[in-house]
Amino acid sequence: MTTQDTTAADIGTRFAPSPSGDLHVGGARTALFCWAFARGHAGRFVLRIEDTDRKRSSGAAALGFLEDLIWLGIDWDEGPELDGGVRGPHGPYFQSQRLELYQAHMQRLLDQDLAYHAFDTPEELDAKRRAAREEKKAYRYDRAGLEVPREERFARAEAGEPHVVRFRTPDRPIVITDGVLGEATLPAGEVDDFVIRKADGYPTYHFAVVVDDALMECTHVLRAQEHFNNTAKHLLLQEALEFPHPTYGHLSLIMNPDGSKMSKRDKDKAVRAAVKGAGLDAPPEGIIDAEVFSNWQADKKSQLDNDDLLALAGALDVVLPEINVRDFRRSGYLPEVLCNFLALNGWSPGNDLEKFDNAFLCEHFDLSRVQKTPARFDRDKLLAFNLDAIQSMSPEEFRDKVRAHGEAYHPDFVARLTDDQFDLLANASHERSKTLDELYRGNQWLMTPDEAVTWPVTKAVRKAMLKGEPCGLELLEAIAPVLEAADSFDAEALQALVNEWAEAHCEGNLGKIAQPLRIAATGGTVSPPIFDTLAILGRDAFRTRMRRCIDSMKASMGEGAA
Ligand code: GLU
Repeated sequence: MTTQDTTAADIGTRFAPSPSGDLHVGGARTALFCWAFARGHAGRFVLRIEDTDRKRSSGAAALGFLEDLIWLGIDWDEGPELDGGVRGPHGPYFQSQRLELYQAHMQRLLDQDLAYHAFDTPEELDAKRRAAREEKKAYRYDRAGLEVPREERFARAEAGEPHVVRFRTPDRPIVITDGVLGEATLPAGEVDDFVIRKADGYPTYHFAVVVDDALMECTHVLRAQEHFNNTAKHLLLQEALEFPHPTYGHLSLIMNPDGSKMSKRDKDKAVRAAVKGAGLDAPPEGIIDAEVFSNWQADKKSQLDNDDLLALAGALDVVLPEINVRDFRRSGYLPEVLCNFLALNGWSPGNDLEKFDNAFLCEHFDLSRVQKTPARFDRDKLLAFNLDAIQSMSPEEFRDKVRAHGEAYHPDFVARLTDDQFDLLANASHERSKTLDELYRGNQWLMTPDEAVTWPVTKAVRKAMLKGEPCGLELLEAIAPVLEAADSFDAEALQALVNEWAEAHCEGNLGKIAQPLRIAATGGTVSPPIFDTLAILGRDAFRTRMRRCIDSMKASMGEGAA
């Protein structure tokens, strides 16, 4: 086979997802590499939606792909637009809208006897498959369709008799040259007369992809390794249709560190473990349907739908393992970090360089440094990358990004705080944040109305409040009037005030009073630095909570004594 002789300006790549479900990180990496290759060679990047499998495709999924790509910072020169518009001269870019084009090229093959109508019934084909299985032979179509005379084939097809169209595969070895995997030869006879138009009139993937890659002038096809074997069929079709061969590069999978496939099943697994850990035999009230839950529990292989998984994960406070781009968005990863990390999963710029941006990737990406073997997706490393990127943001940038994240995923939380409260919270949380989501998950204490906060006496609470001489509760009662009379409730002023008080009342040991204050403010023992916590809450809310906390603690002491 010869590959096209391309100059930089000729280069065209494409990302061609099938819109069933959300964009998987593996798909996102394919898109990223195609895009980077095109950008780095001043070429075109085409987005084509492969929706010829009518049962599995959905318009909503296609839109979701577009949104995710935009979020990642991957733009395309040609393809559908979010608002329903179209960009580029080779449209339409949904395969389901290109049927006439496929038909024209299909007819060329039929007229030249390079393809033929085949009228075998599904039952006949099944019987032959079964027979091959029984004889322990690989099934190959036996060209029974060609026994029908040519004229008759055309006439029966014309008359509307159900049929498929098969490609007449030449009987010779096929050499596949791959920019990543090298060269492989498929012996003659391996590929049978495969179907290129289905009984429903739609072209098969093989046919549509070949026509589109040619008409859309795609010179380079980078795609998942699972398509490597299909390439033989594509090369043969290109020859029959007199189309040029693109340069192929097949990309290895991205796997979990244990070598398993990164799939939605991982989410079910994480939630099952949390359910087991919590000893639940029914779902928490109002979270998911009890019957759905018990069926899922009864069949360990079954899967919940994503919304149910999210609801259960939220109730059990587990973070679902992210699989799709959408999951990483929701979990508060930054798009530039995800791109950097995805690029490293399967490619490296060399010299141990790990941190780079998309501009660098576009400039340096080449097929020769694409890894042949599967990449292992190291979540801890991704989190560390995200932490570094968040820590290098200015306070304003962090505040804006974390707010935008909240508006998308935690609108009730954002709406409940004043702008000042939100800014204080963002500033106080920045230093500890590894993701944009942690602020929300870690500060649910702000969402509870002051009158509804409770103070369960956990081991940590008992230690901080009820143990020692004087105990935390006594210190809290003593400091309460001082805080209520504070001139100012900003973090600095509170710090000065409480420090001074601690000097006089607990030998300067701030720790002794800090934790009781935190418990009073939040109902628990985890929150941002204590003076920030108080300032965010504000004087009135804190006062209410503190008074209620003192009463509640006294009541539990009474119960303890009884
Ligand atoms: N539509 C195919 C998929 O989503 C991609 C085909 C290709 O890139 O050739 O797997």
